[in-house]
Amino acid sequence: MTGRVILVGAGPGDPGLLTRRAAEALATADVVLHDQLIPREALDLVRAGAEVVDVGKRGGGEQVPQDDTNDLLLRHAQDGKVVVRLKGGDPFVFGRGGEEALLCARHGIAFEVVPGVTAGVAAPAYAGIPVTHRGLAGAVAFVTGFSAESDVDMGALAAFPGTLVFYMGVRTLPQIAQRLIAGGRDPGEPAAIVERGTLPDQRTITATLATIAERAAEEAVRAPSITIFGAVAGLHADLGGPLAGRTIAVTRAREQASDLGRRLQALGARVVLAPAIRTEPIDAELPDLGGFDLLCLTSPTGAARLFELVRDARSLAGPRIAAIGPGTAAALRAGGIEPDVVPARSNAEGLVEALAGTDVRRALIARAQEGRAVLPDALRERGAEVELLALYRTIADPLSDEERAAALGADLLVFASSSAAKAFGDAAGTLRGPRIASIGPATSATIRELGAEVAIEAGEHTPDGLIGAILADAV
Ligand code: SAH
Repeated sequence: MTGRVILVGAGPGDPGLLTRRAAEALATADVVLHDQLIPREALDLVRAGAEVVDVGKRGGGEQVPQDDTNDLLLRHAQDGKVVVRLKGGDPFVFGRGGEEALLCARHGIAFEVVPGVTAGVAAPAYAGIPVTHRGLAGAVAFVTGFSAESDVDMGALAAFPGTLVFYMGVRTLPQIAQRLIAGGRDPGEPAAIVERGTLPDQRTITATLATIAERAAEEAVRAPSITIFGAVAGLHADLGGPLAGRTIAVTRAREQASDLGRRLQALGARVVLAPAIRTEPIDAELPDLGGFDLLCLTSPTGAARLFELVRDARSLAGPRIAAIGPGTAAALRAGGIEPDVVPARSNAEGLVEALAGTDVRRALIARAQEGRAVLPDALRERGAEVELLALYRTIADPLSDEERAAALGADLLVFASSSAAKAFGDAAGTLRGPRIASIGPATSATIRELGAEVAIEAGEHTPDGLIGAILADAV
């Protein structure tokens, strides 16, 4: 019995750009042979028990020779396995996918190709650069950067009437630019480099054909990067987003940070993630809710954790249920509960206000271990009996030197909670350097206690409000 090979493109980095067909292939694979430049999250789609082998080749670093990869591919397929050969971007665009397909064909092994989103289109797109554009570019050429030293006719390329997109050209950029100019291309033509395209910390550098190599050197551009020559590169200025050119450090726990980060990135920001906290569930037992007339949830994490503890949905039927804000309300709805109370102002003070008209005798507040005292104090003052149920704790996570330097070197440092500000202060030793954006007054107070100033404070204390305030500040 022979197996088969599926050559799968994993896209350029953003896990959202994996295709459905790629996900299906990964779920059926017995063996996955993958490159370096694939989204980490792609491997989460591999079924348990499948063998995963990194055959990645780092530019310059140690390489798994192509022959060894070929051997693995053949051996596993001949053993009857379903082998997924997972490559960054598209397998047939500078991915050696064609060679591996030929190898299969020669050995009588069935193979399939799952095209992927190629970096040469996606990285410019995320930077607001359409590779073709009516009136500016009616054609696009994909070129390898090694062409400057190999078989591609650079004179002919210089005369190409459209956009030139170079893969793998960081090192050879000075020669590429020089030879294009020597071939007659306009030195003043717009040029752009997109580094780590579609990843949160994507960065775009623009210049002209004559100056791009120097700019790249100044900015220490590194692989993976795509270089674009042509009038379309100039569209970055219009389509790059309102936050283009700004680096924003996001300090939330990783799950939430990537969500906020993705939204800031979509607005053009370069996002560095510095998740100085993470949440860890606490082994809690849900009390009998029959005796409570109010249940308060004060975070999406708390709401999600609550549903993990509920064994019988009917146990939640008794009390009125309050959510601190829209995110928590959404997490409750995801579990099938429509909250009775969601305050207009999304913080403890707002919730106290929203509950002003409600008669509360016995309340349960399910939340993080280190929550604030505002809500329980206010309810007790009103004569209610209040119980706290700690569902999870937030834990400070050390930052790597690189994360710390990237965050403190950002233009803006964003804090969506007091605990994140404290944890970041502990991990980084300081909050000073970048301007600071805060989600609301409680977080701002913590930031000031840590000796830093708050430049931007959200009017509405939600991620949306925070993004709105950052945007308003940017214009
Ligand atoms: N098959 C891949 C290309 C592989 S060659 C594809 O279709 O995208 C590797 C080169 O692709 C890198 O040197 C770089 O030029 C480019 N590349 C891959 N991922 C990239 C990314 N996220 N951002 C910018 N360039 C990327």
